[in-house]
Order: sequence, then C-alpha cells, then structure tokens
Amino acid sequence: MSTLSKRINSLSESATLKMTKLGRELASKGINIISLSVGEPDFNTPDHVKNAAKKALDENYTRYSPVPGYPELRQAIVNKLKTENNLDYDISQIVVSTGAKQSLSNVILTLIDPEDEVIIPTPYWVSYSEMVNLAEGKSVFIDTDIDSNFKITPEQLEDAITPKSKLFMFSSPCNPTGSVYSKEELAALVAVFEKHPNIYILSDEIYEHINFVDKHESIAQFDSIKDRVIIVNGFSKAFAMTGWRLGYIAANKEIAAANDKLQGQTTSGTCSIAQRAGIVAYEQGLESVLVMKEAFLRRRELVYNLLNEIPGVKTNLPDGAFYFFPEISSFFGKKDAEGNEIKDSSDLALYLLNVGHVATVGGDSFGNNNYIRLSYAASDESLVEALRRIKEALGKLS
Ligand code: PLP
Repeated sequence: MSTLSKRINSLSESATLKMTKLGRELASKGINIISLSVGEPDFNTPDHVKNAAKKALDENYTRYSPVPGYPELRQAIVNKLKTENNLDYDISQIVVSTGAKQSLSNVILTLIDPEDEVIIPTPYWVSYSEMVNLAEGKSVFIDTDIDSNFKITPEQLEDAITPKSKLFMFSSPCNPTGSVYSKEELAALVAVFEKHPNIYILSDEIYEHINFVDKHESIAQFDSIKDRVIIVNGFSKAFAMTGWRLGYIAANKEIAAANDKLQGQTTSGTCSIAQRAGIVAYEQGLESVLVMKEAFLRRRELVYNLLNEIPGVKTNLPDGAFYFFPEISSFFGKKDAEGNEIKDSSDLALYLLNVGHVATVGGDSFGNNNYIRLSYAASDESLVEALRRIKEALGKLS
C-alpha cells in the first residue's frame, strides 16, 4: 500500500516555485543567477504598513482573530470595493484568508464536487488546475494564443459549457500573460453566462492595480450575474506584501459563510498582525502602488524592446501585471552544445537557467507549451543583463 494518498500523488509541484528553487540552488554554488521566475514585486512593503504591524504587536494583536478576519479589515475591504470598484458588499460577504491562494482553494473546495467541470482559459495561473484536481473536479481548458492577446471569445466560452459546468475561473490582469479584459469584452462573456444560470464565476483580481490600459474592470459590476461572481483579491501584489499572506473573497452570503466554515476547520483566521497592517494599507490609499506601477511601466517598455531584438521570439505588449509570455516554439527541435534536444518549453526554461543563468518558467506549466513566462519584477540593470544572456543562449542553439 502506498504511504501517500492518491490525492497528493496526483498533485504536481508548482512550476514557478520549482524554477525558483533550482535557481536558488545554482546561486548557492556561487553562480550569478538572474531570477525572472518569481511572481512578486521587487519592492519593499510601504513603511506605513510596516509601522502598522509594529503597532499591532505593541497593542497585543497576537491572539486568534475571527475566522473570516477582523471586522475592521472586512469593513476596509467593503469600503475599497465601493470607492475603487463601485461595488456594494456587506462585511458578511467578505472572508479574509492566508493569501489569495487560500481564498482560491477555499472557493474551489466549497463549490466543486467530483466530476464537476471548471472552465479555465489557458494560459492560467499554475495552481488553478491543481486546486481543481484536489477537489476531484475536472478542468476544461479553452485555448488562447498570442494572436488573440490570450483572451477568449464568447463563442469559445459557449462551446466549452456542458451540463456539468459549475465554475469559470480566470484572472484579469492575467498571470502569466498580463492580458486585461476590457469592459466590452467582459460584457460579451456576461451575455453567455446569463444563458447559463448554474455557472459561477471566480474572478481573480490580484493584479488589479497593475493595469497600464485603463481603470480596472471587474466582472462583478454586471448586476445580472453579480450574485454568482466570487471576487478574489489580496495585498501581495498591490502592496508588495507577498510574505504577509493576506487575501480575501467577496461573494454572495451563502458562499462566504461556506468559506468561513471551511476555513474554521482548516487554518482559522489568518495572521492577526498582517490583518491589522492590511487595514492601514487599504485606509491610506494607493500612493505606493502608483510608484510601483510607474516602474513596471518603464520596465515593460524596456523588456518589450529587448525581446523584439531576439530572433525566433515573438511577443505582444501585455496590458497589465508584470509578466511577458513570449512565443518560443521556433526553438523546439534545436540542440544545445552537448546535443540535447529542446523538446518543450520546460526544456527551454531549464536550458536558459543552466546555460544563460536566467530563471524563467516554461509555458507548459501554465497550459500553453509554446511560450515561456518572464517576470519583469526586477531592476532595470538585471533585466537588461538577463535579456542579453537569453539572446546569447538562444543564439547558441542549433
Ligand atoms: N492569483 C494569481 C493570478 C497569482 O499570480 C497569485 C500569486 O502569484 C495569487 C493568486 C496568489 O496570491 P497570494 O500571494 O495572495 O496568495
């Protein structure tokens, strides 16, 4: 009999975390590795947020918090949703969790029974399909490519729907492509959902503030489906708080209560100190986010120009987040100096790590093998050097 459960044996390791780990291992041997594999801002948490955490410690916010989060934090989230997104929620509809990652996992475990279908446009964030596997649901993928800016059409959505469809989940701005759905594009998808009242929509809005085209558009703004939308958001990307582990959902009361129940039997409320800091982050506004966004905008330009100089690489200009997802399939079938063939995007990412000393992530982990993901949450100098190394390493394949 196997020691480990079928559930854990069927789970894949997170590819982004794996590449980051491999990069760290090489770096520990003294090799200079530039990491473009991680999905986190290279900025520090703003001082006013850090100070709020210190104050929380001094004020002894060190005990268990309510399972769905402190009421003051949930109220700050309600206020944010009203002022920034013009969305009306009550605090009973907000559940705070240990990062948006736990929020996503909670929602899937709350809604999905074995065999239920979850529709996911590709490429998608690596954990989506694995979370569905854990819930014994079935992922149904809708493929997109660079020519459609990695966005699905209403026709594609309609075609993917079956009587077993329970949930549609997507991120906009998207990890790994940076694509952003406009209000008109969302409205066209909503028209499809209106015809299928049993499908819930999980809208991952964690990159909301890193949007270079326009103001953020949430699919929850459409009243006809709002009750079926579960917004997932958090503090990791907007406030450079990845290590604090603070995320949340906004959903109808039944789903929120179910998430509260699930969390009460698994992790309880997330870190009390992080929650107190989160209140201040939301109450004091977006100044620090705007500074970060400006830097990302400059780097996006930089990386776009450098990628366009690499023969065999095709890229678009992403509208948000801090990733590029260039097409690299022209390198498949080529060989490195030792005669090893590049068969897929993971091989190429490994080659770039071992030969170019740049950590990226193969697109196959995001559901689209013809691409790799580069994060540009790194300094301008690192990006210039990383792109030089990538160009040189790719030029050596024959
Ligand atoms: N959703 C997407 C699309 C992400 O890229 C990430 C983190 O990389 C998360 C959710 C999880 O964020 P958190 O740090 O809040 O768990």
